[in-house]
Amino acid sequence: MVKVNGNYLKLKAGYLFPEIGRRVKAFSSANPEAQLIRLGIGDVTEPLPQACRDAMKSAIDEMGTAEGFHGYGPEQGYAWLREAIARDDFQARGCEISAEEIFVSDGSKCDSSNILDILGSGNRIAVTDPVYPVYVDSNVMAGRTGESGDDGRYGGLTYLPISADNGFAAQIPSEPVDLIYLCYPNNPTGAVATKAQLKAWVDYARTNKALILFDAAYEAFIQDPDLPHSIYEIEGARDCAIEFRSFSKNAGFTGTRCALTVVPKGLMGKADDGSEVELWGLWNRRQSTKFNGVSYIIQRGAEAVYSDAGQQEVKALVNFYMENAAIIRRELSAAGIEVHGGEHAPYVWLKTPLGMDSWSFFDHLLQKANVVGTPGSGFGAAGEGYFRLSAFNSRRNVDEAMARIRNL
Ligand SMILES: *Cc1c(COP(=O)(O)O)cnc(C)c1O
Repeated sequence: MVKVNGNYLKLKAGYLFPEIGRRVKAFSSANPEAQLIRLGIGDVTEPLPQACRDAMKSAIDEMGTAEGFHGYGPEQGYAWLREAIARDDFQARGCEISAEEIFVSDGSKCDSSNILDILGSGNRIAVTDPVYPVYVDSNVMAGRTGESGDDGRYGGLTYLPISADNGFAAQIPSEPVDLIYLCYPNNPTGAVATKAQLKAWVDYARTNKALILFDAAYEAFIQDPDLPHSIYEIEGARDCAIEFRSFSKNAGFTGTRCALTVVPKGLMGKADDGSEVELWGLWNRRQSTKFNGVSYIIQRGAEAVYSDAGQQEVKALVNFYMENAAIIRRELSAAGIEVHGGEHAPYVWLKTPLGMDSWSFFDHLLQKANVVGTPGSGFGAAGEGYFRLSAFNSRRNVDEAMARIRNL
């Protein structure tokens, strides 16, 4: 009989979102009249920008002509999109990143998992706790961890706790690690890193010849001009970091699918024989073999994000969600709840009141306010006692959810 990948059997069964779904379903069946408001899953809610839709529509029309038809495109993405990204997202912020170093893809979730294809086994891996679950589960699936323990933590991973105690800034590990996952602005805590904090990581990575995987999916939500949007704003990061970006959260492409990964030329890893190998070539080879590019239509839509009209619309979307976040922060604070995040990220990370654990607060909010959020413990053991509310929703739903919480 065909053998299965046993690493998948190491994955914890009760995964966060299915468990939320189960509890919500049970509650809804018992209370069919309840009007639920979902501030749980991190999906955007506002429509796609007009500029993107117009660009996609013209691309469809082009595809209907013999001259404008596009078949397989470059696996790395069309040059015009890679150039716009390099210029506006990186060079405009003083980062020396060229178009050739940009790899366009169908998502950061896939890229941040697929990157393990080009990294060897035996790397010591550090993740924050709480963490975006994809980083951990993709390592489990790739056989880069041991079994999970009673606390839900996997053997072989170095967990860096982030909580109010350290201002949600992961401490540099005391033991040497080879691979470090960082996400700023952070999902789930909404925390953000300063240049000094990122510099400490870059210095650590260069000293220890480690690789940083930097997830900047939420960079557009940064409000303070002094905060870094890219790891490449830190000197030396080209030698130690890969960055993931996505059009999902800034331009509402969660259902449309377009993202990018930056792999700087000259960023090296070590082969089994001790020689140094450029990661760019490996990633280029990986993408050329296993990926056939993002659709022409979608890449034209993504390109429109960099037009003047697109930029204005993206700003308006970000402002809209950040106003939601400000309302959530203000109302929860007024209700006496300790809040974190939500200032440079669309997530508010609250301390569960009255000493409730994360799942008790989930049930309390579901039953008493009919509001669905995400228990912090689902993102890691150190998330226990915290809870995530997302600002991705309509103003009406946010206002209504906050009114219900206020009246609890
Ligand atoms: C939403 C999100 C992404 C984006 O994923 P896509 O696959 O590009 O939609 C990446 N990282 C984090 C932490 C996210 O929350």
